[in-house]
Amino acid sequence: MTIKRPRGTNDFLPGETVRWQDLENKLHRLCRQYGFEEIRTPIFEETELFARGVGNTSDIVQKEMYVFQDMGGRSLALRPEGTASVARAYLENKMQALNQPVKLYYLGPMFRSERPQAGRYHQFHQFGLEIFGSNSYLADAEVICFAWDFYTSLGLNELDLHLNSVGCPKCRPLYRQSLQEFLAPQKEQLCTTCRERFERNPLRILDCKSPICRELSVGAPVMLDQVCPECEEHFRKVRNTIDEAGIPYILDDRLVRGLDYYTKTAFEIQIKGIGAQSAVCGGGRYDGLIEEFGGPAIPGVGFALGLERIFLALESQGIGFEKEPQLDIFIATMGEAACGKAFTLAQELRQKNLSVQQDLLGKSLKSQLKSADKQGARFVIIIGEDELQSGLYQVRDMAESFQELVPDEDLLSFFCDKLGK
Ligand code: ATP
Ligand code: MG
Repeated sequence: MTIKRPRGTNDFLPGETVRWQDLENKLHRLCRQYGFEEIRTPIFEETELFARGVGNTSDIVQKEMYVFQDMGGRSLALRPEGTASVARAYLENKMQALNQPVKLYYLGPMFRSERPQAGRYHQFHQFGLEIFGSNSYLADAEVICFAWDFYTSLGLNELDLHLNSVGCPKCRPLYRQSLQEFLAPQKEQLCTTCRERFERNPLRILDCKSPICRELSVGAPVMLDQVCPECEEHFRKVRNTIDEAGIPYILDDRLVRGLDYYTKTAFEIQIKGIGAQSAVCGGGRYDGLIEEFGGPAIPGVGFALGLERIFLALESQGIGFEKEPQLDIFIATMGEAACGKAFTLAQELRQKNLSVQQDLLGKSLKSQLKSADKQGARFVIIIGEDELQSGLYQVRDMAESFQELVPDEDLLSFFCDKLGK
């Protein structure tokens, strides 16, 4: 029996992991520039956390969560997203006592049991960030700019930023009612999921992908026409700030975050050319979330983006990554004594920040040189009996293809000079 990886998961092999590291480093750097600090929370949490934080009526909680029982009979779930965990950790660690706002980010695997296809997996990776403790439209604008800044810095084109306001607990109930009144006569024609949504979460009907539901909701009342003055002003200021930053967007009255604790700004970034799974980033404001967890009324705003879909987008737009850093030095050896010398020399050179490899298979000199070349080594040091006797080593510059003899005691300074580390 051969065991394969579970459906909907991926192995990322060395050629790819280098690119993942590059992308992750870009994110870490950008976070430092914007003043976000990393938080790491458990991969699994109490199931109840997501039921409350993502919402019992959401697709994620109803259909997509990996739930299991531990030995003590507690119900746990693999995290399907990051915001609920970060909000819990904020409260549990009394971060409200810190200087506000608190700006946090996370990066790691998430788990959702949905039908696997290109850009949709059971285990995937998200980067996300949250700002807690600021009501200001500037916080909304800052997270949107961060996401935009990140995608454009990768050289990606064909990005669409969709923007909407979903109101607040003051104005949304009225809108919800007018939407239900509009849809009521056609309720029976909606898809099964949307018929269920009609009572518990009617706003979600607006972003149902089914063409029938789309058609039925054409001409439905629009949230933006019914937001209260406070939400209206907030949204206007978010838009002005984004305009000033020169970021283009599409007002999208179908974009919703249907839960009560999501408020005001909702946004999504889509990218063309990667198939049906075109959403690369989703976020917004959630002023009621911390209260939902039993905490004080602390506002929040943030987003999450999927890393796998970025790679799909980069590939579809023909954008490459810089080549992986080459090997500085390969030490080729002949004979047992040479191997010992090579081993200590490699350690010394690595101490100088150089990347060094030696033969681990007892290959012939010829095939050692071949593999040094394959690995893109900049220099090769050749050590055999004669070299050990004389204390003079042959150093071959692979780029310039010339060779010189370097005395043992000068090796370190020779490479520090040449490779400038
Ligand atoms: P979708 O509409 O594609 O299901 P979503 O609304 O469920 O997306 P969010 O919960 O907002 O997505 O998550 C943010 C981002 O995480 C998405 O924009 C996407 O890039 C990524 N993502 C979500 N689910 C998956 C998945 N199953 N596989 C890969 N990436 C995913
Ligand atoms: Mg989804």
